Amino acid sequence: MKKDDCIFCKIANGEIPSRTLYEDEAFRVILDLGPATRGHALLIPKDHAEDLFGLPDDAAALVLPVVKRVAVRMKDRLGCDGLNLVQNNGEAAGQTVKHFHVHIIPRYLGDGQEINWTPTSPSAEELDGVMGQILE
Ligand code: AMP
Ligand code: ZN
Repeated sequence: MKKDDCIFCKIANGEIPSRTLYEDEAFRVILDLGPATRGHALLIPKDHAEDLFGLPDDAAALVLPVVKRVAVRMKDRLGCDGLNLVQNNGEAAGQTVKHFHVHIIPRYLGDGQEINWTPTSPSAEELDGVMGQILE
């Protein structure tokens, strides 16, 4: 199902042109217009899902094989030294387009980009507490 006012629905379904690297019945992979690095791409499902929480399991199961296929090709053709997968959910996580997507970001030694967080030092009690909260 498409959502009328969703730009990624329109891109994924070909109503808005994009630089398409891969397409099948379920997904389109396009070049990001504001790339972090050379070749930065986005995997976008054709059916609207706002984020990971709204993505049906059958679609989720198809995501990684497509991502891998594109990643392998990037390594081969672009000669990248590494690759990040980034997938943001919700404003707190930096999601700006409310249609599920996976960033496929080729990395080059010395490219100057950072995909980082600052490690913290929780106590054993805190780690036990969060584990208990998740598992309970
Ligand atoms: P996020 O912050 O995870 O929601 O990322 C949204 C991404 O979509 C950003 O990297 C944007 O550069 C990219 N983007 C937004 N609009 C377009 C568009 N029309 N075509 C290609 N990429 C886009
Ligand atoms: Zn959409």
